[in-house]
Amino acid sequence: MSRKIVAGNWKMNMNADEARALFEELKNGAFPNQVKVILSPPAIYLAEFAKETKNVHLASQNVSSKSNGAFTGEISASMLESIDVNYCLVGHSERRQYFNESNETLAEKVKQLIAFDLCPIFCCGESLAERESGKEKEVILKQLKEGLFFMDENDFSKVIIAYEPIWAIGTGVTASSDQAQEMHAFIRRIVADHYNDDVAKNISILYGGSCKPENAVEIFSKPDVDGGLIGGAALDANSFMKIIHSF
Ligand code: PEP
Repeated sequence: MSRKIVAGNWKMNMNADEARALFEELKNGAFPNQVKVILSPPAIYLAEFAKETKNVHLASQNVSSKSNGAFTGEISASMLESIDVNYCLVGHSERRQYFNESNETLAEKVKQLIAFDLCPIFCCGESLAERESGKEKEVILKQLKEGLFFMDENDFSKVIIAYEPIWAIGTGVTASSDQAQEMHAFIRRIVADHYNDDVAKNISILYGGSCKPENAVEIFSKPDVDGGLIGGAALDANSFMKIIHSF
């Protein structure tokens, strides 16, 4: 079965002292053997943290869809690779919603990451309206087809998928463990259909959306949930550590 992963998305939170303090608390953490811990702080802190990752791995929250040149404000995959950042979030619903990132743009970002051997943590998820009209699976299928399924088996095997229903992100409303399991099993099945059973078995599929110490044990107990992408609860070392120990 795929490797267990807990990733913390710090979003646009914390000044340098606060970020450093949280990183210091987590980097030497005693984590369960089978769990990989990934931190995604704001990009401005990555180069400093990358010099001393110890027990954690680092993810950028974003990457440019272009390789280099006159794209003011952007960060390239090659820059991330050059400071030893090995993971990057792609397709977070906040990027899709507030920065108009389309599946086509996300596919270009994924290509950039793969070209520099970085691992995309590809987020997918439906809105409340889409779920209420029974379209959640259709939406996920389209996001994965257009954002990821252009890759060959070898490249696709480097990807981590995060299922994050938009209605559960930052709202305090969590998908039930059964809802999460149903969607994760669906994602694994379409990966098997597009690639094969081996690829589907080995890919890590994380759940994200108001995951916290109180619900992580139940959600992580589901067979197709390989861990979590954590937002709010990743900003507190105690809560994040409890989630890491929820397997
Ligand atoms: C996220 O932003 O990826 C997320 C899951 O946030 P939260 O845990 O706060 O819902």
